[in-house]
Amino acid sequence: MALKITEDCIACDACLPKCPNNAISEGNPYIIDPDLCTECEGFFPTPQCAEVCPVDACLKA
Ligand code: SF4
Ligand code: SF4
Repeated sequence: MALKITEDCIACDACLPKCPNNAISEGNPYIIDPDLCTECEGFFPTPQCAEVCPVDACLKA
């Protein structure tokens, strides 16, 4: 399972350094590689990109 980033993304860059799998790339909107995203399993109890996103643009795919 992976998260995706919606069009609501304002490209603030808060999520990118938080990802333990380097699954997030810059863009408009930012992009999550579904092959790399583990929903933070094994690293954190909750998806860190969703935790820090100020506009709630990181959602379950
Ligand atoms: S849920 Fe976790 S692993 Fe997936 S993109 Fe967000 S920060 Fe990275
Ligand atoms: S934290 Fe949210 S608004 Fe900021 S770049 Fe990531 S997805 Fe976009």
